[in-house]
Amino acid sequence: MPKLNENFLKLEKNYLFINIAKKINAFKQANPDADIIRMGIGDVTLPIAPVVVDAMKKACDEMGVKETFKGYEDSGAGYDFLKNAVSGYYKSIGADISPEEIRINDGAKSDCGNIVDIFGDDNIILVTDPAYPVYVDSNLMSGRKVIYADSNEENGFAGMPDYDVHADIIYLCSPNNPTGSVYTREQLAEWIDYAKKNNAVIIYDSAYEAFITDPDIPRSIFCVDGAKEVAIEMCSLSKTAGFTGMRCGYTVIPDALKVTASDGTEVSVSQLWGRRQGSKFNGVSYPVQRGAEAVFTEEGLKQIHENIAYYQENARIISETMSELGVKFTGGINSPYIWFKCPCGMGSWEFFDTMLEKIAVVGTPGAGFGKNGEGWFRLTAFGDRQRTIEAMERFRKLLGELMK
Ligand code: PLP
Repeated sequence: MPKLNENFLKLEKNYLFINIAKKINAFKQANPDADIIRMGIGDVTLPIAPVVVDAMKKACDEMGVKETFKGYEDSGAGYDFLKNAVSGYYKSIGADISPEEIRINDGAKSDCGNIVDIFGDDNIILVTDPAYPVYVDSNLMSGRKVIYADSNEENGFAGMPDYDVHADIIYLCSPNNPTGSVYTREQLAEWIDYAKKNNAVIIYDSAYEAFITDPDIPRSIFCVDGAKEVAIEMCSLSKTAGFTGMRCGYTVIPDALKVTASDGTEVSVSQLWGRRQGSKFNGVSYPVQRGAEAVFTEEGLKQIHENIAYYQENARIISETMSELGVKFTGGINSPYIWFKCPCGMGSWEFFDTMLEKIAVVGTPGAGFGKNGEGWFRLTAFGDRQRTIEAMERFRKLLGELMK
């Protein structure tokens, strides 16, 4: 009989969003006419930009012609045309990343989860709490020790290192999911310093960098001095350009990032990751990569920013409502997420049930992202404008009732 990886048995039985979906289904069955507004799962709602659609159509036509048909991509790391485009984008945001340091993938979630393959199971993993669940889950699945840096109300949900505690691998996410907080240049410099002092590697998730509007906030950890010796960055076109259903992202591992093996030899992390991907990943489809390339053209960037501006306006509407009602929150600026304190001292799941039952609005309970999320709640700005406005009207009414 095969032996199980029993680490899986120690995980929460269901992924957060499955639990939420179950609650919504039960509510729907009991209230078939309810007009539910979903502001929970962070999926986008606007269609792909026209230049991207055109580029993919053209690529599909090429696939149907013998002379231009493409099979497996040789390296599986992405076509040069896309790696050049991503490298150019990095340059435009102030980071010097060569195309060779970039690998194209099928979205950031896979790489966030799979990168642990190249690191030993005896590493100590540091995750800011609350966090996007993949960082913790993928390490618990391998039986690693996970420790936490608190992100809480006191530090504006931007957890910082404790120099008295050692970690080998650190996950950071800015703009943060779920809290919408962002790290400043100085805060990132401190994390880089901590990583250097601990010979640690930072895995930096910048999936929401396109939502940053403040010019002083770095869009990449590689905009900060010293990051290349300690960091891996993962980014995605999912939220930037509506690629959640298309699947394309990129991981940057600088040449300068080296780790010493137990026999004393210096190993290139990029080389090791390339070796892992070579065995287990066969690349992203040609039409999707052509679509992704189009995102980084002048017209592509203009078109995707029209969609991002739409979501940013939703975020402003939600934030304004929270401010008006005196509800404490982070995010909403530089981020599509609004993270607020549940009113009347309610717990996250209690407030989830209250919102669903009383106003048929769905959000995400903060407790699902870690212990510091208890008592907090996440709304997303990725919805339709009118529905967002309607949700905020219902929210105002609900708060009025609760405060009576
Ligand atoms: N990283 C963060 C912080 C996310 O919130 C998400 C998706 O919600 C991802 C990564 C994964 O994105 P992708 O669709 O590229 O897999």
